[in-house]
Amino acid sequence: MVVRDGSYPFRGPSVTCSKGGYRPATDQLTVTRTYLHPMTDSELESEYEVAVVGGGPAGLTAALYTTRLGHDTVVINRGGGRAAMMLDTHNVIGVTEDVSGNEFLRTAQQQVQAYGADYHRDFVSDAERLEDGRIRLGASDAEVVVDHVVLATGFSDVKPDPPLPRTGRGLHWCLHCDAYMFVDQPVWVMGTGEAAAKVAMIMLNFTDEVDLLTRGDEPEWSEETDRQLAAHPVDIIHEDVAEIEKGEDGWLEALVFEDGRRRAYRGGFPMYGSDYNTDLAEQLGVELNDDGTVAVDDHGHTSVEGVSAVGDVVPGHNQIPVAMGQGAKAGIGIHYRLREYPRPLDEIESEGEVTTDQVPGISGRMRERAREHNADAAAPPVETGETSSADD
Ligand SMILES: Cc1cc2nc3c(=O)[nH]c(=O)nc-3n(C[C@H](O)[C@H](O)[C@H](O)COP(=O)(O)OP(=O)(O)OC[C@H]3O[C@@H](n4cnc5c(N)ncnc54)[C@H](O)[C@@H]3O)c2cc1C
Repeated sequence: MVVRDGSYPFRGPSVTCSKGGYRPATDQLTVTRTYLHPMTDSELESEYEVAVVGGGPAGLTAALYTTRLGHDTVVINRGGGRAAMMLDTHNVIGVTEDVSGNEFLRTAQQQVQAYGADYHRDFVSDAERLEDGRIRLGASDAEVVVDHVVLATGFSDVKPDPPLPRTGRGLHWCLHCDAYMFVDQPVWVMGTGEAAAKVAMIMLNFTDEVDLLTRGDEPEWSEETDRQLAAHPVDIIHEDVAEIEKGEDGWLEALVFEDGRRRAYRGGFPMYGSDYNTDLAEQLGVELNDDGTVAVDDHGHTSVEGVSAVGDVVPGHNQIPVAMGQGAKAGIGIHYRLREYPRPLDEIESEGEVTTDQVPGISGRMRERAREHNADAAAPPVETGETSSADD
């Protein structure tokens, strides 16, 4: 998506302002608001209520919620990650598919900063519980102490050896995102485990040409799966890949195998597993599941007080809308834990009633940022003089 003048991420028709909200343009004057400031590294405080480690869709959504629910929040993000690998975006309603992962993330980062979160590009290498119960996070050139940490660190796909096609042009890492583009196209699935065998059979829902490539390695799928596989029209090719053939547009056209055989393909899925980024979770003593994901409850809270986890690093479908949903639930869950009011009855008995000088409950810094943002948002939109002919 092209981000112009800080306008919201709609592709195609520009947006018009209607009673404080946005809707697709009609043939009215095109207007833009300018309150999404350019994304830069923030000057960091030493203490926050919430730190989000990882700035993919999961972490940025968690940060959006904690910020808009009034909590001092910092996002510390190394950059890259799975969303950044997307050449185009699928399955995110309201975002057109020509939006790249980097464009999507940049807009999200700007939104979160515009609401008042701090953003810092860095790798968090250590995390420890302090005596006062808070958590210290150490990055290469930053250190923060926080009440609550959200781990949104994702995973890395285990990559097979080259030769391989280009990601998004014949090499695909996301079945639920990309199976649709292979309807009636020849497809390969690579790997020797259960997942590879299952995905090969699943792809028969989309096309009648599916090959399973073991690349010279011994199959490790179960005998039962082997019988199931034998009952489906999937060709198993054991020879390793010797050469890749691409078209002028960069898309895969064929694989040539070591025995000289050439098979035409549009693309395929390597299935070699995931390396979960759980170093920080382990340093904080968080419980992991047998598959390496972080164990969480329904609101993304881990087994350790003050630590949540969201997105690809927790169990679930590895999809942006799912990661965003988990981020939203975790952000709201953190607000329930951290918000000042209502003061519980036992605290009213020990500390007294809430007095007017104790409210509002949010910090002076967040209060100032929200006021600044809301003043910008309420400013009259700038008329550009252009008209749009897009239909409502
Ligand atoms: C090629 C590809 C295409 C895809 N296409 C789609 C699609 O079209 N639609 C869809 O719904 N899904 C798609 N997916 C899946 C989607 O990208 C993921 O489900 C989603 O990005 C998960 O979000 P996340 O925030 O959990 O993790 P990520 O997007 O992986 O972000 C994790 C972030 O955490 C950072 N990080 C990790 N450890 C640290 C640390 N210690 N300190 C600081 N930062 C750290 C990483 O650098 C990264 O920026 C695709 C995936 C791939 C690989």
